[in-house]
Amino acid sequence: MSESRVSAYLRQHRAHDVRKLLSAWRNAVKGTPFRVATVGKKDGFPLVQISNGKPSARPGFYVSTGIHGDEPAPLWGLLEWFLKGGYAPLGDRPILLFPCLNPLGITENHRVDGDGRDLNRIFDQVKVSPIREVRSAIHGLQFHTAICLHEDYDAQGAYLYDLNRTGSDTVGRALLAKATSKRIPIDGRMRIDGRKAKNGVLHSQRLDMRNVPGLPEAVFFYVNKLAERTLTFETPSEFSLTDRIDAHRRFLNAAARACG
Ligand SMILES: [Zn+2]
Repeated sequence: MSESRVSAYLRQHRAHDVRKLLSAWRNAVKGTPFRVATVGKKDGFPLVQISNGKPSARPGFYVSTGIHGDEPAPLWGLLEWFLKGGYAPLGDRPILLFPCLNPLGITENHRVDGDGRDLNRIFDQVKVSPIREVRSAIHGLQFHTAICLHEDYDAQGAYLYDLNRTGSDTVGRALLAKATSKRIPIDGRMRIDGRKAKNGVLHSQRLDMRNVPGLPEAVFFYVNKLAERTLTFETPSEFSLTDRIDAHRRFLNAAARACG
């Protein structure tokens, strides 16, 4: 599928159309080493993962989107990144993508799932789908980079949670710079979501992990040392949808290149 066909979905107000998204993915993987697998069911929708089936000789690359249903841009940003071959720099690394973790939420433009749960606060609940499926898919794997794509209604630009143990946010700042533009600038607030930010980056060294509400997906990756770098990229929900999608695509491009 070409980029213009992705854009056509948006013009037809299909940004929240999960079935169209999944059928676009089934077309997108044709002729590539990737496979779309239905690994479960969530609120009556198939829960799918996409992977390139490479053996885990090197630390992998993980991306999830759509855990919050009122945040549609990441779904299409991930698809556009894939369609444009953004995964090429990752070479023989295992790649695991969850293109929509909360399909009913996306369909109904709700943050929460069909039972009213914020799925990004309960990553310790192993019986709840899609947490069960994600945890099963990553079991025994190690990731170089794990990425959770989100949006934020309060944001004044794009920002990034950079969770790593290097003591530095240099990579995070470089990735954010590559993802942003005049149309979606860096969120310059000193405090974001009640936490200390510097040039749009919230670094693990400056975050108090004891004050995190529940267990978000990214914190689950970080505390369990599943990835060298866990990144949560956020775009401002009130900005243009097309620009937000492009910001997510650019962020993934930069992250894949940095991973190499
Ligand atoms: Zn979110």
